[in-house]
Amino acid sequence: MKRIVVLGGGISGYGSAILASSEGYDVFLSDSGRIADKYRRRLEEWQVPFEEGGHTPELILNADEVVKSPGIPEKAPIVKALREKGVPIISEIEFAGRYTNAKTICITGSNGKTTTTSLTYKILRDAGYNVALGGNIGESFAYSVATGIYDWYVLELSSFQLDGMTDFRADVAVLMNITPDHLDRYEYKMQNYVDSKMRIIRNQGPADTFIYCGDDPVIGAELSKYPLPMRLLPFTARTGGGAAHLGADGVMRLETEDEAMTLDSREMKIKGLHNCYDAMAAMLAAMAAGVPEASIERSVTEFGGVEHRLEPAGEIEGVEYINDSKATNVDSAWYALESMTRPVVWIAGGTDKGNDYAPLREFAAQKVRALVCMGVDNRKLVESFTGVVPEIFDTSSLEEAMAAARRAARPGDAVLLSPACASFDLFRNYEHRGERFKAWVAEHGGVKNEKEGR
Ligand code: ADP
Repeated sequence: MKRIVVLGGGISGYGSAILASSEGYDVFLSDSGRIADKYRRRLEEWQVPFEEGGHTPELILNADEVVKSPGIPEKAPIVKALREKGVPIISEIEFAGRYTNAKTICITGSNGKTTTTSLTYKILRDAGYNVALGGNIGESFAYSVATGIYDWYVLELSSFQLDGMTDFRADVAVLMNITPDHLDRYEYKMQNYVDSKMRIIRNQGPADTFIYCGDDPVIGAELSKYPLPMRLLPFTARTGGGAAHLGADGVMRLETEDEAMTLDSREMKIKGLHNCYDAMAAMLAAMAAGVPEASIERSVTEFGGVEHRLEPAGEIEGVEYINDSKATNVDSAWYALESMTRPVVWIAGGTDKGNDYAPLREFAAQKVRALVCMGVDNRKLVESFTGVVPEIFDTSSLEEAMAAARRAARPGDAVLLSPACASFDLFRNYEHRGERFKAWVAEHGGVKNEKEGR
């Protein structure tokens, strides 16, 4: 019997192990750390043998094939040992893709994946499709394949999931943008990360569709390197043309050979240029899946966005509080500032990933009344914006930051948490940071307002 070893016992790993078990393989799962109780219980229910707290080479190196969880880097000693022995290592997506004939919409990019994936899923589900959501969001693809039967999957794919893909083919591939991120996993070489993202179009043929941002210079430069037999549907705002285009009048115009539609972006609850990109990508994906125009329009205008992404947290004394804790890099903070129409008290800072703040200076000068730096070490941020914004506060806790922001804000302003940094100096993760922000707003009498103030 073929032996499948799964490395990593997180959401992706236990899903792969359960799928391998349901397909009748000899399965073993190994995690160098602790496996969360909820995953351990599932493995026990499915009677999948596993180990935690270390890898036993004799139980791993005898695998016919290894499914590696996306969080495990190439430099991990067990991965190196497997490579030396020539054992094939694949990703969960590659593995799960073998056991379903469903159509897949696969979404990747440096920013906007979760928003676009969630919106695409909503459009298909609202239209009555038998569709599952998976990948980096919700349950894993492998677990859904093991436990359900679907006609469509909408999958959010990180570059790490794309790395272990060889034969998998997306029916609809969506590439949002490519800006530097996770370079520590790619030998600090941007091209390695770019190559990884471009794997989204691997194996695509004439019946498939590739949706991508036509404004992105990195994607533009890559396209000439690949044969492109699939249907191409670019979306644009800054440059002209494209299958979807956001005009200066705020109207999004979309056209494929089968369907055409327009939607005024002001009809959407989600705001800003980045959300228009995400909406255009999701609409094109839905059009490629055959969803009728009226249904797409209804779902997109209803969509309220995803938690911690420019999420309205409430209003206090005429000041709107906005939680964009997910903005963990400079590019996403740029789009957050871009979308602001009120004067901004901006809370930023945290663990700096080698950031260059220069791209944010222009919006900061135009829109930011005060910058509240929230982090253990704020020096770089303070230096970058001294002389650019009128007031800067140096704080090192959420309470201090919120008190400073409240004092600095005037009625009609927005207090925006869009840190441009990771959260690990003061918080467990970006969700924890966003939860604390929202809890503070609620405790101080924040009132949720359905009207959009931005
Ligand atoms: P991801 O899943 O790729 O991290 P999200 O949808 O969670 O992306 O959005 C994260 C942040 O990235 C948002 O708060 C927003 O500031 C920014 N963002 C969203 N869409 C885009 C886009 N198309 N281009 C650039 N930035 C974006």
